[in-house]
Amino acid sequence: MIFNIQRFSTHDGDGIRTLIFFKGCPLHCQWCSNPEGISYDHTILYDKRLCRDLGECMKTESRAIRRINGHGIRIERGQIAHPEILRDVCPSRALTVVGEEKSVEDLLQEIEKDRPFYRDNGGVTLSGGEPLSQTAFLVPFLRALKERKIPVNVETSLHVKWENIAAVVEGINTFLADLKHTDTKKFRAFTGGNARMVTDNLKKLVAGGARVIIRVPVIPGFNHTQKEMNHIIDYVDSLGIKEMHFLPYHTLGMEKYRMMNIPYPYEPYKPVRDEEVYPYAEYAQKKGLRTKTGG
Ligand code: SF4
Repeated sequence: MIFNIQRFSTHDGDGIRTLIFFKGCPLHCQWCSNPEGISYDHTILYDKRLCRDLGECMKTESRAIRRINGHGIRIERGQIAHPEILRDVCPSRALTVVGEEKSVEDLLQEIEKDRPFYRDNGGVTLSGGEPLSQTAFLVPFLRALKERKIPVNVETSLHVKWENIAAVVEGINTFLADLKHTDTKKFRAFTGGNARMVTDNLKKLVAGGARVIIRVPVIPGFNHTQKEMNHIIDYVDSLGIKEMHFLPYHTLGMEKYRMMNIPYPYEPYKPVRDEEVYPYAEYAQKKGLRTKTGG
């Protein structure tokens, strides 16, 4: 299932790229800026600011959607068995459904529209959610892209079974791999996941000769200290990886938590400014790593 296709991206690998966002992620990072991409199922977003009280959604789902006093609706999401039936019911787009099943052919058609812009170094970047959760789809999709000589990058948390990675590694040109923390307790507390799974996969990828660029989200209260970041950089350097990107925490996803009616654990934190991550990049550069800061 796909939840977005973003064209003409220049931040997610070389050249001009088409980003495809796969729905579903095994982690629940407290700062996630794509919360609508975490569930493997459809996700209902409701933007009260756009609601004109037209009531079309209630005609479709009269049990689970009720008008509330004053202005707007209350949605009992757990009672909606098939959210996709609400996809196009709201004329003012206050209520939208995220997530759409696409075939390999559907995606290839979209990609072909952008292909003239890839030139020598652009291509497709798989993002999410966690694209490597969906290998059954990826195997034929990557084969089709390879036949068309379209380069593919993947943005991944590496928090999947090694078998998932092994199944697609031949079809991926560059792994843009997150390394959020090396401390297993902190990783578990803030993401719900297992840091060992990430580092074990990373070691296997590097040993197999894959091109890997590490991306570290710089997150206040989690890893945004020189001591913790030095530890992460030392670890990356010890693996022989040559390039690292530092991505400062931002709050662009905050509104989506409201639209999903779930709490945003990172509400109290301010965005991290680019200059706050420069000392981390300098430390990495002194070790001989190429670095990039910002999204
Ligand atoms: S790994 Fe990425 S998509 Fe998954 S929860 Fe964390 S920030 Fe969100």
